[in-house]
Amino acid sequence: MCLIADVNYDRVITMEEKEHVRLWNECLKIINDNIPSKAYECWFEPIVPESWDKDKKMLTIVVPSNFYAEYLDEHYQDLLKSTFARVMGAGTNLSYTIIQEKATNTTVQCRSGYVNPVKEKEQSDMENYNPFPAIPTRRKIDPQLNPHYTFDTFVEGECNKLARSAGMKIAENPGKNTFNPLFIYGGSGLGKTHLAQAIGWATLEQYPDKKVLYIDSNRFQAQYTNAHLHNRVNDFIAFYQMVDLLIVDDIQFFAGKTGTQSVFFQIFNHLQMNGKQIILIADQSPKLLQGLDDRMLTRFRWGLNAEIALPNPETRKAILKSKVHTDGLTIPDNVLDYIADHVSDSVRELEGVINSLLAQSTLTDVEINLDLVRKVVNCLVSAPERTISVSSIQDAVCGYYGLEPHMLQSNSRKREVVQARQIAMYLSRKYTKVSLSSIGEQIGNRDHATVLYAVKSIQNLVEVDKEVQYSVEAIEASLK
Ligand code: ADP
Ligand code: MG
Repeated sequence: MCLIADVNYDRVITMEEKEHVRLWNECLKIINDNIPSKAYECWFEPIVPESWDKDKKMLTIVVPSNFYAEYLDEHYQDLLKSTFARVMGAGTNLSYTIIQEKATNTTVQCRSGYVNPVKEKEQSDMENYNPFPAIPTRRKIDPQLNPHYTFDTFVEGECNKLARSAGMKIAENPGKNTFNPLFIYGGSGLGKTHLAQAIGWATLEQYPDKKVLYIDSNRFQAQYTNAHLHNRVNDFIAFYQMVDLLIVDDIQFFAGKTGTQSVFFQIFNHLQMNGKQIILIADQSPKLLQGLDDRMLTRFRWGLNAEIALPNPETRKAILKSKVHTDGLTIPDNVLDYIADHVSDSVRELEGVINSLLAQSTLTDVEINLDLVRKVVNCLVSAPERTISVSSIQDAVCGYYGLEPHMLQSNSRKREVVQARQIAMYLSRKYTKVSLSSIGEQIGNRDHATVLYAVKSIQNLVEVDKEVQYSVEAIEASLK
């Protein structure tokens, strides 16, 4: 935030005695007494007073960016208003002059998807606008939501019931509910992104003025790096802190990125303290996420953790029917039933089969029937992967260690058996979508905490112990 001081340094010196400087300094004394010193240093010290128009009762101050001006409006409007009333009298107006950002910065940020960048068009709107007496029209941000991902197109099933109903409640009352943050987790292609975005759309429908924003963790990370490079981390943080509903997807990719995590943590805390809604998405529950700060994981558990699981055949059928209906297709029911019975790994895979079916039938001009669907499903659904189950993993592990199958089920504490058992649990977690408790049940009736411990132990060992790493890789190869 030294930008202003640098740019206007000479001007500040020569203006020292002028009226607007005197008035602003008076205001600063009051502001300084009323807010925490960190906030004062961050948000008020960098401001330079520009002019005072006595007739219009208008004070103009220079701020570095439109984010900054919005932040002041959002957080300090009341304080500024009452301070001005004390120093300059009631009815005082405030106007911002915004230092133009370099054009190069703008393009870089746009390309990396920086939402609400300092676009020239918007910037001119922001210059010299008067936030008083009424709150200025709040500029909208592009929520970055996919128009197809709504509740209307999201089929409810046992697999997503909890997450879906929590999502609907959130849209009714974002931020003011017990599901903050809502943490949605589950395997790939099961509808996490779709559901989270549907919550975003439903919120906007009910509260069109709310700022809703969807961002995936990689993009967030790229924006942060970019902001860091251009000395604009404060603007970056301020921008995210103004959002009313923030959806961050695939946060498992924050693993190991400590800088991004710490900035995200700051944003997260601010939003939560100010009653703003947060929705987080990951491929694992907070308990199993690796490489994320423990403080952050603890906070993630404060709200609601809702898993989206694999859909059962009934839900798969309903999803297929809904897709066919939405896309205006005609596919016989027995074909849809065949797909639902044979494609069970993810919803994305179901959609893939429908798309291939359409392509095949259009290109070769054949009717969509059971024969065609059998061919398509055989081609698309990789059989070996589908046969990996907790029991086939146990067979592979026993084969590798030369153990009798019942040994994994037993209570033997022999080192080799314990390790084999833990590897079986680890691989079951990695290659199947079976829950921790069900894995435990299938491996000697153990509880989910034991499985969790085993998964974490092997995860750590694979990184540091070459022998374990070799064994795990060899067993994995035999599974495929
Ligand atoms: P994830 O984020 O869990 O990897 P997505 O949200 O990207 O999965 O979903 C993959 C595809 O499956 C998307 O096209 C989505 O619309 C569709 N889909 C997933 N779940 C459902 C559902 N319950 N109803 C309708 N479509 C779904
Ligand atoms: Mg996703």
